[in-house]
Amino acid sequence: QQIVNVIGAGLAGSEAAWQIAKRGVKVRLYEMRPVKQTPAHHTDKFAELVCSNSLRANALTNAVGVIKEEMRIMDSVIIKAADNASVPAGGALAVDRHEFAGYVTETVKNHPLVEVINEEVTEIPEGITVVATGPLTSPALAEKIKELTGQEYLYFYDAAAPIVEKDSINMDKVYLKSRYDKGEAAYLNCPMTKEEFDAFREALISAECAPLKEFEKEKYFEGCMPIEVMASRGEKTMLFGPMKPVGLEDPRTGKRPYAVVQLRQDDAAGTLYNIVGFQTHLKWGEQKRVFSMIPGLENVEIVRYGVMHRNTFINSPTVLNKTYQLRANENIFFAGQMTGVEGYVESAGSGLIAGVNAARLALGQEPIIFPFETALGSMARYITEADSKNFQPMNVNFGIFPELGEKIKSKQERAERHANRALATIQNFVNSQTI
Ligand code: FAD
Repeated sequence: QQIVNVIGAGLAGSEAAWQIAKRGVKVRLYEMRPVKQTPAHHTDKFAELVCSNSLRANALTNAVGVIKEEMRIMDSVIIKAADNASVPAGGALAVDRHEFAGYVTETVKNHPLVEVINEEVTEIPEGITVVATGPLTSPALAEKIKELTGQEYLYFYDAAAPIVEKDSINMDKVYLKSRYDKGEAAYLNCPMTKEEFDAFREALISAECAPLKEFEKEKYFEGCMPIEVMASRGEKTMLFGPMKPVGLEDPRTGKRPYAVVQLRQDDAAGTLYNIVGFQTHLKWGEQKRVFSMIPGLENVEIVRYGVMHRNTFINSPTVLNKTYQLRANENIFFAGQMTGVEGYVESAGSGLIAGVNAARLALGQEPIIFPFETALGSMARYITEADSKNFQPMNVNFGIFPELGEKIKSKQERAERHANRALATIQNFVNSQTI
């Protein structure tokens, strides 16, 4: 029987190693710490939380609560560690980070089928391999990943505009049109008067930004300019940039608005839209406040806030299968933040699927796709079906789940329906397959 290599003992790699070993398959787990540190890690422990100690909401009315519950059903070591090390945090699952990482380290390390090798991997090894080296993958390995996936499919910087739920847009205020009516009408346009624009610009300039990490400073402006910086450059800068109104006359009046904010479809299902050119470094609360000033977005649900930070991730819609295998070489799996899932829990969740499938491959079984009705499956679907040209990492959210079949007005009820369907589906999936 083949041994599976797992590179990186972070959130995703630890979960992948655990799921593989649990299925009776030997694992060689490579972790470069403490021999070599990343710019954000400080310890030699597996699954070190580099920033917040919160794994976010636990309640099933939140998609991140649902993914946790699915992972509990799948005997996730990361969620078990978090439940064991939890500290009071209202509705969130927050942990004592040392206890949490200690539990993961001991449990994975002490599994008789896991061999731990503390060294930096600089070549992708032969055989079945899960690459889970995270947003701060060491440069030498990143170079190899670039060769493997193709130069243009590996990114080192995450400059993302907010993504919003289509259902929360006021369609009475926006209109569908492409600039100069070129091609199919593809954009939702939010028109602004001069007064609205001036107030919006003022709010952007005075809003509060998130602090930068020390190692991110030099990289800051390399990608593209944050919208708030553009706003501060001059009164007209945004009007010649992402808010340019030419060719976007409002079909209802025939008139050209003073300024326009454009929204572009973000997922194949058409449930999510991104705000074009609005990459931002504003604090999340400020994004909600300021972007709600855009006509049509008064009650907008932001499912993914804009961010600008260092990140290493592949263009999964182009290179990855829903089993987390590389399309060009099915022996190679990717997992974690590298695949374009965002967050501790999502990273571990992708590691769970990659681990299940790497073990199946080693055992001579077919890899499996998790049902899209589940949070785990919908994440895998999102990262492999999102718009490849504008691909940016994504947190789990109900907007990426398949629709429920009928429109439900109450947010609470919609969440409950998604959660119930997801948990029934994963339970069925576990019962009906030998996974
Ligand atoms: P990691 O947990 O980083 O694991 C990767 C592992 O691979 C590391 O242990 C690393 O040492 C090892 N490694 C790297 N290169 C090599 C190599 N060549 N050979 C061997 N080992 C290697 N998400 C949240 O939900 N909440 C937050 O508060 C949060 N804060 C973040 C702050 C920062 C500064 C960053 C960069 C990200 C943050 N994230 C946060 C995003 C993300 O969820 C975490 O980074 C998460 O740890 C990703 O899990 P992972 O398994 O993909 O990577």
